[in-house]
Amino acid sequence: MSYQSDDKGYYGTFGGAFIPEMMYPNVHQLQNCYLEIIESDEFRQEFKQLLRDYAGRPSPLYYSDRLSDHYNAKIYLKREDLNHTGSHKINNTIGQILLAKRLGKTRIIAETGAGQHGVATATVCARAGLECIVYMGALDVARQSPNVEKMKMLGAEVRPVYSGNKTLKDATNEAIRDWINNPVDTHYILGSVVGPHPYPDMVARFQSVISEEIRVQLLEKTGKETPDYVIACVGGGSNAAGAFYHFLDDPSVKLIAVEAAGKGVDSGESAATTQLGHTGVLHGSKSLLMQTPDGQIVEPYSLSAGLDYPGIGPMHANLFVTKRAQFLSATDDEALRAALYLTQKEGIIPALESAHALAALEMIDFKPEDVVVVNVSGRGDKDMEAYLNYYQSIK
Ligand SMILES: *Cc1c(COP(=O)(O)O)cnc(C)c1O
Repeated sequence: MSYQSDDKGYYGTFGGAFIPEMMYPNVHQLQNCYLEIIESDEFRQEFKQLLRDYAGRPSPLYYSDRLSDHYNAKIYLKREDLNHTGSHKINNTIGQILLAKRLGKTRIIAETGAGQHGVATATVCARAGLECIVYMGALDVARQSPNVEKMKMLGAEVRPVYSGNKTLKDATNEAIRDWINNPVDTHYILGSVVGPHPYPDMVARFQSVISEEIRVQLLEKTGKETPDYVIACVGGGSNAAGAFYHFLDDPSVKLIAVEAAGKGVDSGESAATTQLGHTGVLHGSKSLLMQTPDGQIVEPYSLSAGLDYPGIGPMHANLFVTKRAQFLSATDDEALRAALYLTQKEGIIPALESAHALAALEMIDFKPEDVVVVNVSGRGDKDMEAYLNYYQSIK
C-alpha cells in the first residue's frame, strides 16, 4: 500500500479536489503543471540553494542528553525552530514563491493562524518583490501581535477576519474567496497539507526535506538511517508530513502524530480531530473533520493558534484510518508543562505547537535503545505571553 497521494490527489479515500466551479481555472492550472515545474532540475537547484543560504538548512539534529536520561531512550530534536522566520513554514513558502514566479503571478495571498505562515509568506514576498495579502482571524491578530507587526514591516497587508470563531478556518475561507475573485494574477500560498489537490501533495513534497535530512543526520550519528519513532504535532499536518515523508513506507519506524486536546478531548474545547471527527469536506478536500451530525463545522479550540483547526490533511486522515500512524493528543496544560521542561533542561524555548509533540514523550513506553526523533517545528518567541501567564500561575 502507498501512503502517498495518487495522481488525483487521493490518499486512500481522502483528498481530491472538491471545489466550486469558480475555482477551477486556478486549481486546474496548478494541478496540470506543479509536478513538472517542481521536479525540474532547474527548480530543484534554486529551491535547494535558497533552503541552504536563505533559510539556514540543514537544520541541526540535536541529541538531548537530559531528555534522553529522563525518558530513558535516545531522544533527538529536529531543530526546525532554528530556521529563518522561526519554523518549518519557510520550507513551503520558498517552494511556492518559486512556483508562483514561474507561473507569472504578481500577487500573493495567504491565510495564517499563529502568524508563522503569514510571516514566512511575507518574507518570501519581500524577497521576490511581490504584493502580499495575509488573511488572519481577528482573535489570532490579537493573540499573536509580534507576528502581525513583522508581517507589516515586511510590507504585507494583514486583513483581520471577523467571521466564525475568528481563527484559522475563517482566515482560510476568506483567502479562498479572494482567490476566486482574482483568478489570473494571484497565487494562493496555502500553509499546510490541506486544501484541494495538489496542495496536500505539493506542500508535503516541499516539507519532505525535513525527513530527508533526518535520514542523513541519523546515519552520521547512529550508523542507521531510520529511527524507532518520529513524533510531530499536527495542526493541518505539514511539519508532520515533512518529518514522516521518507519513513512512510518503512513500517519499522513508528509515526506518532500529536493533536491539540485543548482543555481536554471531551471538554467541548479541543482540536483533537481524529478523536472527535468524521469524514467530510472542508476547504476543498475530503478528510476527517470536527462536525455536528448534520455537517456543520464544530469550532475548534487550542491555546496554540497553529493547532486551532477543525480538520487534518488527507494524508494524515489516511495514516489514521490505516493505523500507519498513531494519533495522540496533548492538552494546553500538558503542552505548557512540556515547553517549560524543555526550556529548563535544554535551554530551548519551543513553539507552543511543538510543545504538544514534546508532551507525547510522557505518554509512550520507550525501550532504552529506542531512537526517537521529535520534530521541534518552531521556536517560542511568539508564545511568550502564554508562557509567562502559565509560569506566573504555577509559582
Ligand atoms: C503552523 C505551525 C504548526 C502547525 O501546522 P502544521 O501544518 O500541522 O505543521 C506547528 N508548529 C509550528 C511552529 C507552526 O508554526
